[in-house]
Amino acid sequence: VWDRLILAPRAWTATETGLIEGAAVGISAGRIAYVGPAADLPDEPEQLAHRVDRHSAGLLTPGLVDCHTHLVFAGDRADEFAERQRGTSYAQIAARGGGILATVRATRAASVEALVDCALPRLRQLIADGVTSVDIKSGYGLDLASERRQLLAARELGRRSGIAVRTSYLALHACPTDMARAEYLDRAIDEWLPTLHGEGLIDAVDAYHEHLAFTADEVDRLFRRAVALGVPVRLHADQLSNQHGAALAAAHRALSADHLEYTDADGVAAMAAAGTVAVILPAAFLVLREKQLPPIAAFRHAGVPMAIASDLNPGTSPMLSVRLAMSLAVSLFSLTVEEVLLGATVHGARALGLAAPAGTLSVGAPADLVVWAVDAPSALVYWLGGELSAEVVAAGRTVFARR
Ligand SMILES: [Zn+2]
Repeated sequence: VWDRLILAPRAWTATETGLIEGAAVGISAGRIAYVGPAADLPDEPEQLAHRVDRHSAGLLTPGLVDCHTHLVFAGDRADEFAERQRGTSYAQIAARGGGILATVRATRAASVEALVDCALPRLRQLIADGVTSVDIKSGYGLDLASERRQLLAARELGRRSGIAVRTSYLALHACPTDMARAEYLDRAIDEWLPTLHGEGLIDAVDAYHEHLAFTADEVDRLFRRAVALGVPVRLHADQLSNQHGAALAAAHRALSADHLEYTDADGVAAMAAAGTVAVILPAAFLVLREKQLPPIAAFRHAGVPMAIASDLNPGTSPMLSVRLAMSLAVSLFSLTVEEVLLGATVHGARALGLAAPAGTLSVGAPADLVVWAVDAPSALVYWLGGELSAEVVAAGRTVFARR
């Protein structure tokens, strides 16, 4: 007997099955035990499950995956945002200690508990809009103790929220002002990485590869060390200029390369060959008023899986909804509705390194799903924002229900 059986007019599975009319999803021990037409159930619903939910309207989908966030930080930068709109440049703000260094100062001063208190309301907003798996990056600590507190906070957020949290140690994000670059690289790569990995805090290693951040040689050194430890890598690549970051990520068989506005044909081909997911982040593009579009048609043609994420961060993407990121990816980057639905489910799960069939409604997948108050999958992307979820289930347990 299953724990729960959910009946709804339709389910979208994120598999080749696509849409199921008159759908039933059975849940047992936190996993999906049945997906298919209710008409094909082997017995009466009440005979099959302890609890049966019958929805006369609505749509079931897999839970959404937000595969790129910087969710854990202290002190937002709403004041700087307002100042920039009045004409102060980011360079001026950074020169007086604002920007990322302001977030680093506030994050360093915060306890694990304080970081959790700051981040949990943001995470709850993502969950309320359908998210059941999330990436959380460090990178605002820039010293061992502070990076550790960020990663511990991320783990605690997983426990408190009930959804799946995957951590990324963003070892190379910015160089701290209180340490020489060479020493920072030695410590972040050769000391903190093995230490934090040994403490079980790292699911992936990430870096910011850009002319104003870290070079290909520096990233290569970090990635060699990570791969030697058996930790998968991801990369902030080709966001503001073509640094050949996509090819660098692919050379280390990265789970994903992210941003990719300036990625060239060689980078696309390398990602296709390596099976690296392209993570598309339209909110940062919007906030920064970028003009260069990522090579979506080339990814599509080469068969590179594309994922969509919020890039939730205090500077360039204060974005609290993956669904809104999906809408922006369609409007700004001309992805199709089908592509963004796959991008925020099965492809996002792959970018996180979650084992198949995570991110789909399939027998054996984690019971991560959303009951939406809409009739069709396209409606999830059509509406810009709004409150469309009725219930969000992670590992078989309700993590959000709208009153
Ligand atoms: Zn990022």
